[in-house]
Amino acid sequence: MNNNLKDHRQIGQELDLFVVSERVGGGLPLFTPKGTIIRKVIHDFIEQLQKEFGYSDVWIPHLAKAELYKLSGHLEKYPEYFKVKSSIGDEFVLKPMDCPHHMEIFRAKPRSYKDLPIAYNEFTTNYRDEQSGELNGLLRVRALTIDDCHIFCREDQILEEARKVYKTIVSFYKAFNFEISVRLSFKDPKNKEKYIGLDKTWEKAENAIRELAKDVEFEKRDGIGEAAFYGPKLDFMIKDVLEREWQLATIQLDYFIPERLGVEYVDSDGSKKTPVVIHRAIAGSIERFIGILIEQYQGAFLTWLSPVQVIIVPISDRNLKYARNVFDQLLTSKIRVEIDSRAETMQSKIRDATLQKIPYILIIGGREEKEGKVAIRTREGKDLGTQKIDEFIAKVKSEIESKI
Ligand SMILES: [Zn+2]
Repeated sequence: MNNNLKDHRQIGQELDLFVVSERVGGGLPLFTPKGTIIRKVIHDFIEQLQKEFGYSDVWIPHLAKAELYKLSGHLEKYPEYFKVKSSIGDEFVLKPMDCPHHMEIFRAKPRSYKDLPIAYNEFTTNYRDEQSGELNGLLRVRALTIDDCHIFCREDQILEEARKVYKTIVSFYKAFNFEISVRLSFKDPKNKEKYIGLDKTWEKAENAIRELAKDVEFEKRDGIGEAAFYGPKLDFMIKDVLEREWQLATIQLDYFIPERLGVEYVDSDGSKKTPVVIHRAIAGSIERFIGILIEQYQGAFLTWLSPVQVIIVPISDRNLKYARNVFDQLLTSKIRVEIDSRAETMQSKIRDATLQKIPYILIIGGREEKEGKVAIRTREGKDLGTQKIDEFIAKVKSEIESKI
């Protein structure tokens, strides 16, 4: 283990990515403009990977009657709720999960077997009443945003739908160079009070997870007692730079909550059936994922992820006009760019850009201006010489597209 590694909270402050304000409260990080760019890039990447699957976006409020979670079974199994009382005494909770809400959208009209699969997709924040001693920057928070999706399907559609999710997970984690292992999370037969539903149905669901796991190309292991209370799951684990293991992506099979909430469709023979719901997340908690990424890269994000991809350093005010022209061209090419026009020396501007871990530093003086070029340096201190602007733009754009 490398002892020189910095904590994500320190890097987050140095690079101006997020803020924890005691006035707002512990475990409730606030994302700055730069941190929000990283959230958005991750969000857009997930959307791009799953676009072909035809999921539908939905939106739900963050508050619900406590009764909803009593019905779903969550209230009994998860005690760490934020309870909220209305002025006439009705009991509400800040939502700890999204499943019951999405199921209510499904339940709102009659569904036929021909309508399935139906998938509801949403980036949305959940709330957990964690003890303040357990909070840790972005890694353990009270407000966590999940890239959540619930896929309602018939039993004969489970494998096909789960394989699509698996494909998305593989493409996603490869782009971050994370090493994945997979846990088949089953229930603990000795600890029955932790789970809902019949043994026979659990067996069916666990067999489907084993079937799906046959496709998995990573190291696999069984995790007895690691299932959700409503069903078994495939959990995707990664090891970070500190050798800590995190469960991030997940594919969960649920035969029980839909039944408890009366979620139904009409089958081909006219009978009413309960769909199976696949609960899935790719990044898991976006906050935790970003915390791990910050530590993994020590703030030096790959170009496609960097909040600022290029910074322009004009040597003197005389070069400012040309520098602005270069800035506009990069901006038009959708490259995230800044210009450092402070009255500092060139050396100190380069040093600051390096400390900010900006992948490319463009130095612009009289010669570059005359030749219509830019002098390029990397944050690692490498001098890449001069290049025509359009050549440089093409290089950065291709890095962004290939997620380098
Ligand atoms: Zn769910």
